[in-house]
Amino acid sequence: MISLNSSLEELNRVGKTNIKLLKKLGLGNVQDLLFYFPFRYDDFTKILKIADLEKGQNANIIGTVELIQNRKSFRRRIFVTEALVADESETIKIIWFNQAYLTKTLKVGDQISIAGLVSENNGQLAFIAPQYEKIYDNNLVNTQGLVPNYHTTENLSQKQIRYLIKQVINLSTGIEDFLPLTIRKKLNLLNLSEALYKIHFPKNDEEVTRARYRLAYDEVFLLTLKAQLIKKELKKRTAPKIIFQEKTTKDFVDSLPFKLSNAQKKSAWEILLDLGYDTPMNRLLEGDVGSGKTLVAIIAILNTALNKRQSVLMVPTSILATQHFNSLTKILASYNFKIGLMTGAKKPTDYKALDIIIGTHALIQDKIKFNNLALVIVDEQHRFGVEQRQKLLNFNENKNNENKDSEKLTPHFLSMTATPIPRSLALTLYGDLDLSIIDEMPLGRKKIITRLVKEENRPLAYEFIRKEIKNGLQAYVVCPMIDESDRLGVKSVKAEHLKLDNDIFPELKVGLLHGKMKSKEKEIVMQDFLAGKISVIVATSLIEVGIDIPNATMMIIEGADRFGLAQLHQFRGRIGRSDIQSYCFLFPSREEISNEKTLERLEALTKYNDGFTLAKIDLKLRGAGELYGLVQSGWPELQIASILDYEIIKEAKDETELLVKEDPELINYPLLKNKLANWGYQAHLE
Ligand code: ADP
Ligand code: MG
Repeated sequence: MISLNSSLEELNRVGKTNIKLLKKLGLGNVQDLLFYFPFRYDDFTKILKIADLEKGQNANIIGTVELIQNRKSFRRRIFVTEALVADESETIKIIWFNQAYLTKTLKVGDQISIAGLVSENNGQLAFIAPQYEKIYDNNLVNTQGLVPNYHTTENLSQKQIRYLIKQVINLSTGIEDFLPLTIRKKLNLLNLSEALYKIHFPKNDEEVTRARYRLAYDEVFLLTLKAQLIKKELKKRTAPKIIFQEKTTKDFVDSLPFKLSNAQKKSAWEILLDLGYDTPMNRLLEGDVGSGKTLVAIIAILNTALNKRQSVLMVPTSILATQHFNSLTKILASYNFKIGLMTGAKKPTDYKALDIIIGTHALIQDKIKFNNLALVIVDEQHRFGVEQRQKLLNFNENKNNENKDSEKLTPHFLSMTATPIPRSLALTLYGDLDLSIIDEMPLGRKKIITRLVKEENRPLAYEFIRKEIKNGLQAYVVCPMIDESDRLGVKSVKAEHLKLDNDIFPELKVGLLHGKMKSKEKEIVMQDFLAGKISVIVATSLIEVGIDIPNATMMIIEGADRFGLAQLHQFRGRIGRSDIQSYCFLFPSREEISNEKTLERLEALTKYNDGFTLAKIDLKLRGAGELYGLVQSGWPELQIASILDYEIIKEAKDETELLVKEDPELINYPLLKNKLANWGYQAHLE
């Protein structure tokens, strides 16, 4: 008998490979699957007659296979499967690529349902690489109604995920609702099992809206509740006092090649004040890409090290860790601090001897313990969850610690993010955090000139870049890779690299950077780029976060229409990091952008430079079918809610405050307490 706790291995048609892939998505048992929400729906609610189809529309038809055959396209070296499908009104051609097995599964005479974009082939309407389903009974999951789309990985298909969820969806009725009934009633929310059913298999838009509201409410409610409980807990803890080293700090700041912006000064000052108290700091430093957050962090680290205490700086990628390691080593060279780097590949041997440790997730995974840790900084904090934050706070909790005094001390905590959340909202969502905002760019920065470029003008863009490179500058070329499942993406970045290296810039060195490379290889490319040995880097979205090479002033974004606005802004944030004029060229993946919203999105990027304005526009432009764009920008606790869900956030804050006042130990709400624990929060920080 399959139950909520059954491992996914027990389901039909799950092989060993799929289990691995599902694990990668964080899915281990049936319950995980039910809570794995779609991010978008294809609207195939209406079955159309073939005769009524129009080019450019997303449509669903049902018909009979009249002909199906494979041929090999020699020019492109791929298999093409062509079929003719007819209903009572008309016949239409269907084309698939590299799925030669289709001629085995689909036979002449089969009834099939086809869903996808109506395109053209040789002047005739056709479906190109559409979704299809053979009709055995009335149970179409992939091609009819509102069809859910899930984030996936490598070779795991949408179809497979849907098939698995379909198998277990009825078990959702067994899930107990953890949200207090009074709240559910007051806000007229769907109950949990109903919401789960409807988010996966909605009949109409209204069902999606209500299901989403309930599930988004849950996320925000849990996040806010957790934040408030942590705040309560932290107040009871003791942190090491870091005494402000005024003279040395001033000398350090004076030694920099530039002046701190006022916002940087103010933020640094707020942090230094917090560090001076013996209650743990818990502060978020928010500042747009390129605003200079790292330096503020370094000032805090410097003071901590001067107090003979340890600091940890945690970042989301090994490239970024290496970059920070190199720049800290350089900028703090005269102080003789011991600085260590910790990534999946590199590990220092003796943590206790180090003053400053820079690392990736590996830091938490290896359960390292320190005895003298006083400051934990998390860069790009939106990539990490509260759970990870809690682990970091407990770094000093080693029972076998020699240093009995430090053992009891909780380190100060600083997180940094470029995600533009309004102050009021941040305070609500992260009730436990104080906030510093860097709301100005360093002096002398110029607005990045951003252009949407027509394909015919591509050579001009390359010419321009060549000229700027002759002047000693550098460029990034970003290729679309939406997620890891996007094999085409990896191929395209390699192809793009070859093209640029051999054909376009034969006289220049062009480097390649993508997620499948070993960290050592990535590091070498970054080092060479930093040293100016490489002029152009072709990369996937890997370069999105944090990379800081001020001499790179140009960026081409290929397939720009395939990225969300927030992500485009993050990419572009890699340039415009000095007082040299920077340029960003956007190339859409197709010549004509037929979708008006896509066009508006790209035009917004050409007009505005600041992340906050762009985030607002993004929200306004998000299509009805695209529910939760923020998942892409990575906010681990919010799978379905968006930080711009003002109403939900306000409601959740009111309710959690009441709850924490009334029953802080959640004694009357065992289900909720349990949910919170599964959600990564231990009622006490130990
Ligand atoms: P982010 O806030 O995106 O993390 P960084 O900390 O990487 O930004 O800083 C971006 C670049 O700006 C770095 O090269 C840094 O040395 C430089 N920078 C930082 N502060 C200033 C300043 N006050 N004036 C000029 N350049 C600065
Ligand atoms: Mg940064």
